[in-house]
Amino acid sequence: MSGGVVITVGGCFAREGYIAADNIHCAEVAAVFTTRNGGVSGLLPGTGHYKSMNLQIGDSGDSYDNIKENYRIAASSLGFSADDVVSVRQKHTDIVLTADEAAGGAFEADALITDAKGILLSVRTADCVPVLMYDRVKGAVAAVHSGWRGTFTRIGVKTLERMISLYGTDPSDVSAAIGPAIGGCCYEIDTDFHERFREEYGGFIDDFFQTVNGGKQHCFLSSMNRAFLERAGIPCENITVSELCTMCNPGLFYSHRRSGFKRGTMAAFIGMRN
Ligand SMILES: [Zn+2]
Repeated sequence: MSGGVVITVGGCFAREGYIAADNIHCAEVAAVFTTRNGGVSGLLPGTGHYKSMNLQIGDSGDSYDNIKENYRIAASSLGFSADDVVSVRQKHTDIVLTADEAAGGAFEADALITDAKGILLSVRTADCVPVLMYDRVKGAVAAVHSGWRGTFTRIGVKTLERMISLYGTDPSDVSAAIGPAIGGCCYEIDTDFHERFREEYGGFIDDFFQTVNGGKQHCFLSSMNRAFLERAGIPCENITVSELCTMCNPGLFYSHRRSGFKRGTMAAFIGMRN
């Protein structure tokens, strides 16, 4: 991962507003994770917690016009228009929809896939793990929202499985980028949480839990997502994991753990350009 790569004229968003998924992002494919910078939200008194690239959809105290403008800025910086963005109502499910299925807008899901060019898939996070995938042979992309529930139900793997069945994807042709999320440094969990994962997945899961001072347990969600994708056949050298923790970096990211609902929301975008 590295700082924003300038692709088209996008003002400050293209310079500092996103983190490119270096193993996917290229002339043909846009694949980025937004930061909280480069947008227009949070300029009025009392709204600073939205500053500035708030991409929340639905319940938000931020103005609709601000959010709409933020989507326009983000999409145009990536060579798309706001009308090209496909997103869904996220509910921590393990439901995977194609862009066509999601186009009706009435559905709840937490992963999107498409093999069509000119569509910019989007999922939103503010501590949860965003995962982008690209099948460079069949020409298909995926955007996944994987919080602890999504990780538990392996929504990333279910997304890959749907790409296999719909597009004929071979996992060894897939590159995956796991974006900024809450890190093991900050993600403190309840005691039964580790047990629940172990019952489902066995001792393999122990690598992603650590007991720290005071007997509290911390969980490394991003690494667990990577491990599930590797076990599903994506070569380890094709997977990148951002080391940036959303909770540790208030200047870069919104964080639900840090701020509760008084915050904005980042987005992960992926799309194949026409
Ligand atoms: Zn942290």
